[in-house]
Amino acid sequence: MKFGTPFKASGAKILLLGSGELGKEVAIEALRLGLEVIAVDRYQNAPAHLVANRSYAIDMKDASQIMKIIRSEKPAFILPEIEAINIEALIEAEKEGFCVIPNARAVQLTMNRKGIRKLAAEELGLKTSRYAFVRTLEELQEAANRIGFPCVIKPVMSSSGHGQSVARSAAELPECFERAKNARGDASELIVEGFVPFDFEITLLTVRTEKETRFCPPIAHIQEDGDYVYSWQPMELKEGVRREAEAIAKRVTDALGGRGIFGVELFVKDDEVYFSEVSPRPHDTGMVTLITQNQSEFALHIRAVLGLPLGFSLLSAGASAAYKAQSDSSDPVLDIPDELFGERSFVRVFGKPSSHKGRRMAVVLTADETGEKALENAKKLVASIKDR
Ligand code: AMP
Repeated sequence: MKFGTPFKASGAKILLLGSGELGKEVAIEALRLGLEVIAVDRYQNAPAHLVANRSYAIDMKDASQIMKIIRSEKPAFILPEIEAINIEALIEAEKEGFCVIPNARAVQLTMNRKGIRKLAAEELGLKTSRYAFVRTLEELQEAANRIGFPCVIKPVMSSSGHGQSVARSAAELPECFERAKNARGDASELIVEGFVPFDFEITLLTVRTEKETRFCPPIAHIQEDGDYVYSWQPMELKEGVRREAEAIAKRVTDALGGRGIFGVELFVKDDEVYFSEVSPRPHDTGMVTLITQNQSEFALHIRAVLGLPLGFSLLSAGASAAYKAQSDSSDPVLDIPDELFGERSFVRVFGKPSSHKGRRMAVVLTADETGEKALENAKKLVASIKDR
């Protein structure tokens, strides 16, 4: 592989569509290999804007604004880093010969729970929770009675737990319906899923190029209200469970195709593995790899984008804890005790220009002999951060 020079004819540009904390780390890894980085988001001074060579703030739902940037910048690679992107623009860009990572179809299928669920359960025949798609309260009631309680209700287009709730009985359905309806950005559907009382859930980071597919050691995580709060790696799995998890991840990522890293989310119950969903990009629970692997999920993503070899190793077991703001501020200040910057712990501060209660502002990373030990420490350390 030949590496050109940024701002020269030989240089290659990557365009990040979405510039949050994950995009920021992707940008840094791209810069380390001499790529020119252009970061786009809906607001100025988003985390990846702070490190990119150039940045834009546009309406990410507007195809013409996205296409204008693509046509003028002519990036070698377009990396969608969030789900809330105008998909028509990506399809159009691909038609015009631009390289979308992993590809526009994979982004389209995974941005809508219906697309990926139908692919996984109906085309690939993978085990998932029971599910139905509904539009009205009556349809929800009918489907929930069929699937059984408790059940999980989510907008088909949503992330970070927005609009998601669990109904324990039929009486709770109207409230769950309202919550999902109020959160969804468009008039699209809801998914109702049977609740899987899993023993644990994991993200299997799966990185692929045309030449190879590799799996990072499994990452266990804890979610609150549908949003990640802690993750740790490696999660030791029984041999059969690990093989099954990898087989599922391989089938799903092969079906989606393209180059890059994928976060395959799986539930494990009584040694059975259920497919939940997949991100065709780095995963928030995978931030733990910033401390555990010699090539983080972000570094591996860029390597895969470029078609480079995907070798890496686990340096240590470790954990991550997301720090969420406790207050609203247009000039956030995080108060982080010195002890968090220790021999086996550090913090990444995202630099978001404003905070609101529950917004993810930083991540605490810890290393230890086991993921579980690292998790205990990460929980303790994150509790000592404050913000205003
Ligand atoms: P999702 O946005 O679909 O990844 O859901 C966020 C989190 O909610 C998951 O990581 C699980 O912890 C929980 N969850 C979602 N769907 C189910 C389900 N069918 N059964 C049990 N837990 C679920």
